[in-house]
Amino acid sequence: MSKLSAWFGGTFDPIHNGHLHCAREIASLLDLENVTLLPNNVPPHRPQPEVSAAQRVEILKRAIKNDPLFLIDSRELERDTPSWTIDTLTLLREEVGAEAPLAFIIGQDSLLSINQWERWQEILEYCHLVVAQRPGYSSQHADHKVQSWITRHVTDADSLQHKPCGGIFLADTSLYTISATDIRRRLHHGLSCQDLLPDAVIEYIAETGLYRPR
Ligand code: ATP
Repeated sequence: MSKLSAWFGGTFDPIHNGHLHCAREIASLLDLENVTLLPNNVPPHRPQPEVSAAQRVEILKRAIKNDPLFLIDSRELERDTPSWTIDTLTLLREEVGAEAPLAFIIGQDSLLSINQWERWQEILEYCHLVVAQRPGYSSQHADHKVQSWITRHVTDADSLQHKPCGGIFLADTSLYTISATDIRRRLHHGLSCQDLLPDAVIEYIAETGLYRPR
């Protein structure tokens, strides 16, 4: 059976050390060769990103420079229609084949809003969900039915490698109190983002004047 491949979707407005450190920890826990970053174009249930798609990709490129773990898949940015995760997963599944294990990485906050995703109950027919811990978010879904769906699918790291899809792996990642919202706010106020963003991203944002103080 082929190795587990992993995609990590996000608005990445901008990508930050919370994303990168969690992805690296997950890669080490699951022995991943790569983590493919999948920037979203028009996340249907979220406010629009502050900078353009092209700029978010430029930031991604700088963030992962010199780290061969990461790849970028910008397919969702090339579509005009809303990028439902289920549609992208359908395409990824076609590409990797029916038997290949495939993981989609999300944070705990995203797991708590999973029932707002388009055709959410079908997601696990295409991939495993690998969930990074996120400080400040409950470990339980407020809706009992959704929580019991989650509990029913929770699995261990080993099964992710041996089944193509269907599991939810709650990864024991470190807690990173970092969010893009807070970073944008800090940048708007001219505050330092040292340790929150990779140095190359801090430099790029300073050079280009993105997220400039308001
Ligand atoms: P915003 O503050 O704008 O909502 P964000 O920091 O949550 O942004 P996104 O690009 O929306 O970043 O997140 C992409 C994915 O990464 C989501 O599944 C989210 O749960 C996860 N994620 C983001 N920050 C962290 C973090 N600090 N720890 C763990 N997971 C995270």
